[in-house]
Amino acid sequence: MPLPKQSLADALRHTSALSKDGQFAAAAAEYAALAAEAEKVRNRRRAANTHALAALDFATAREPNAAMQHARAAFKEFFDLRLYQRAPTFYLSLLRIADERKLIRLVDALRTEFSAQIVIYTAEARKESFPETKLPATCPGCGLAMRPELVDWISDARAECDFCGTVMDAQ
Ligand SMILES: [Zn+2]
Repeated sequence: MPLPKQSLADALRHTSALSKDGQFAAAAAEYAALAAEAEKVRNRRRAANTHALAALDFATAREPNAAMQHARAAFKEFFDLRLYQRAPTFYLSLLRIADERKLIRLVDALRTEFSAQIVIYTAEARKESFPETKLPATCPGCGLAMRPELVDWISDARAECDFCGTVMDAQ
């Protein structure tokens, strides 16, 4: 059974608090569970984004194999869904963490598997523009930081959070 919207927002807030608190392995495991849940209900954008968050926290927790596994799942969806902004942003964040943690094999694997596609996506991302309106700093539903490329625009002034589905008005 899919998580009701409120408990999904609670779960996301809990996971993001664990991550802020430095409990990266625990946060990563929770994001992985949320990604599995999103796949079950076929919410592909949410699955992609939660796989990406799991990969970032697994890398921070120095678990490169789990990080790579979730990175592959995230990239597959980002590429399939042509999320031109998300793929390069995620790639650079994950590379930076892997590099800082000296996870050399993860750095190499990411470059080997994804860099060619990322070059194409970075060029596409420059062509894509988002409405000039302002989103709230954080999603009122799940509390995650909102960026124009992380939401589904319903109109120029309304957007839906990719994580919890909350619809918000931009100003
Ligand atoms: Zn949300």
